[in-house]
Amino acid sequence: MRDPSGFMRTEYEDLVEKGFDWKLRVLEGPSAPRCKVDGKDVIMLCSNNYLNLSNHPRLKEAAKRAIDTHGAGSGSVRPIAGNLDLHIEAEKAVARFKGTESALIYQTGFAANAGLIPQLAGKGDIIISDQLNHGSIIDGVRLTKADRAIFAHRDMGELEKVLADADKKYEKILVVTDGVFSMDGDIQHMGEIQKLADEVGAMTFVDDAHGEGVIGPDGRGIGAHFGIAGKIDVEMGTFSKAYGVVGGLVAGSQDLVNYGLNKSRTWLLSGSHPPAVAAAQLEAIKVLEEEPEHVKNLWDNTKYFKNELISMGYNCGNSETPITPVIVGESHKAKALSDRTFELGVFALPIVFPMVARDAARIRTMMNAGLTREDLDEALGAFEKAGKELEII
Ligand SMILES: *Cc1c(COP(=O)(O)O)cnc(C)c1O
Repeated sequence: MRDPSGFMRTEYEDLVEKGFDWKLRVLEGPSAPRCKVDGKDVIMLCSNNYLNLSNHPRLKEAAKRAIDTHGAGSGSVRPIAGNLDLHIEAEKAVARFKGTESALIYQTGFAANAGLIPQLAGKGDIIISDQLNHGSIIDGVRLTKADRAIFAHRDMGELEKVLADADKKYEKILVVTDGVFSMDGDIQHMGEIQKLADEVGAMTFVDDAHGEGVIGPDGRGIGAHFGIAGKIDVEMGTFSKAYGVVGGLVAGSQDLVNYGLNKSRTWLLSGSHPPAVAAAQLEAIKVLEEEPEHVKNLWDNTKYFKNELISMGYNCGNSETPITPVIVGESHKAKALSDRTFELGVFALPIVFPMVARDAARIRTMMNAGLTREDLDEALGAFEKAGKELEII
């Protein structure tokens, strides 16, 4: 007799045995530079809330006001009866901020990738991806009948060859890549990719989830960073990271928006954001336009923290952004370092195989604009003490 759902228990037990299961921590209160996790007061070093906007008074006020004026829910999907004035205003703000003709907001960044990518290429076309692209891109690509090719991580020589080959064989060519890579914090050569793509008439799609609000002047993202804002066919991003709210977005031409909203099933068939979310999104963009200090603080903190870790003897890899990996090698060492720093009041989780190579286990720290110099010194003290105890440094 079959045990219809027995596989769930056995596979879960297998994950636990290998130490690959997620042990969920509980955040009690707001995501903030100093917060409470599992009942313990800690310095937060692993949220994506780079600019500390999720708890910004202006965003909270905007969200509360929108509940009073528009209610708690939107009542529908956007194509039917759930298209609020607040959604439209937030989209206009995104386009203005990113220097594109237009923008479209999806429920999440994952929904943007899974809903739009499959509509951009099909049978007879090819999608070319960086080897280390995010899982949501991979899932989007899997939903198409297009052929696929992968180039080695940030290897422009290889991309050029793949493009030349694709140019002979395929109708449409789509190059899709992360902008900032979330495990190492390195930045894609997007200027070079755009140039190579232009030479063969390929479409470009960049997932700027970790770049928006972080890189480029005033945090305007990867297009602005490389001086090619408005040239990339699709600049995709998220409100769930530096912008401090939730929601996916794509910025580009009006043609992109017209096409995307009529074709993406994730957009068409899923309820729209509640008013409080849309209002907080709009306010996040306004805060970025009016308060440049957040991006500046983020980078000042990043430079200080990274330099101090490196001078202690830690390996921070190829990071060029506030994502600062502390690479220690073996999985059990990374776990031990994370456990010990947590005891010392610092919250940063280990990232181990299969998310990174077996010998490149790490703690991934993410800098935050709201951390003070005292917070950083305290966190660095914990890394120094734990690193010496564990003979990592
Ligand atoms: C976080 C992330 C996403 C998903 O964004 P959500 O809005 O949180 O769904 C997509 N791509 C990359 C590279 C990410 O880091």
